[in-house]
Amino acid sequence: PLTIEIDDLVVRHTPDRPAALDGVSLTLAPGRRVALVGPSGAGKSTLLGALMRLVEPESGNIRINGIDIRDLSPEDVRERVTGLTQDPYIFQTTLRDNLTFACPGSDETTLAEALRRVKLDAWAEDTGWNTFLGEDGRTVSGGQLQRLALARALLYAPPVLLLDEPAESLDEATADHLMADLLDITHGHTTLLVTHRLRGLDRVDEILVLEDGRITQRGHHTDLVAAP
Ligand code: ADP
Ligand code: ADP
Repeated sequence: PLTIEIDDLVVRHTPDRPAALDGVSLTLAPGRRVALVGPSGAGKSTLLGALMRLVEPESGNIRINGIDIRDLSPEDVRERVTGLTQDPYIFQTTLRDNLTFACPGSDETTLAEALRRVKLDAWAEDTGWNTFLGEDGRTVSGGQLQRLALARALLYAPPVLLLDEPAESLDEATADHLMADLLDITHGHTTLLVTHRLRGLDRVDEILVLEDGRITQRGHHTDLVAAP
């Protein structure tokens, strides 16, 4: 179990422009799911970047189980925090290679479990496991690609999952289906879900609204949807 505390974080990409994050504080406690919503340019990706130690803050800090992220190596951070981008990279080889990339030597039982978690096991069974795992990574569709990328991330067993606009490049119906499944899949898993829509977020523990680098609202789905 792992707790991430972000305290008064300020990130500035360019000296002569307003800060991309202007004093953001939040806590990700074990097993909790927090959604970060906000318009384009609000600073959502910057926050994820800071959590993966790809972006250096100007001030404030991020602590993972009490340890300042600056005192952890990039490898240490990667073992604790795994991000899933809106356009996951899928290798032009087999699905098996794609799945086992991060964890070479995973046996079929482990792969089956990962595919079951992301709800692709029915497809694998229909096709036959060997055929399915031998299929070309290029043939999967948008929603399936996100699921495969999530299965790959879960094989890594990261304590904290960061999901960056996972439904962004999908059509409405596929996006709704994926988001609903993602909320099943990540149940009980410490997750920060970045999205620009409130729809379907009634199952997360807390929603934070980020605007111009500041958290302007926080609460549950009902509070925010009912708000004027
Ligand atoms: P969001 O993910 O909510 O769309 P971003 O974190 O991408 O927001 O961007 C926040 C602000 O920081 C925007 O004004 C954006 O133009 C700026 N920004 C983001 N990344 C960079 C960068 N690498 N260099 C300079 N400015 C950046
Ligand atoms: P897309 O619309 O991009 O395919 P979805 O996320 O809606 O994205 O599709 C993934 C879903 O479809 C999963 O639940 C998967 O199990 C199922 N699926 C996809 N292809 C097949 C198939 N050939 N046989 C059985 N189920 C499949």
